[in-house]
Amino acid sequence: MPAHWVWREGPQVPGASAIVDIDGVLADASHRQWHLDGPVRDWYGFFDAAGGDALLGDHAELVRCLDAGLQVVLLTARPHRLRELTLEWIGRHGLRWDLLALRGPAQNMTRSVRFKREALAQLRSFGFLPLFALEDDPRIVEMYAAETLPCLYVHSGYYG
Ligand SMILES: [Mg+2]
Repeated sequence: MPAHWVWREGPQVPGASAIVDIDGVLADASHRQWHLDGPVRDWYGFFDAAGGDALLGDHAELVRCLDAGLQVVLLTARPHRLRELTLEWIGRHGLRWDLLALRGPAQNMTRSVRFKREALAQLRSFGFLPLFALEDDPRIVEMYAAETLPCLYVHSGYYG
């Protein structure tokens, strides 16, 4: 697996899994959306403010209620430099997760739809059997459908 992907408690044998997005699904990014509203989207400002996200507790509880035999893969298009911040945030909120998969050091310019399409293929190639995903970006919901992955849409309101 990519060296920048993180297991919560050491490597496991990949198996049946749920793919869960972070921003807009588990993390409330609404307080930093304004960084993207100007004529030039300020992605640095947007991502650097992620440590202040509130937890979307209902969705976190939904993930907690998933079958205990499922591995929870947190798949996020957050850039690699947010890895430690994200791990700290996940730990602070006591989330259920098994693998954190975020963008690699060389993937910061990869668009999120393409990044997640490639990451899904990688996960499958490593033996994961994703059963469904939770996602708030309609473009990614469509991509998952095209890749034959059932996807539950979560309404974050970030996308027009
Ligand atoms: Mg999202």
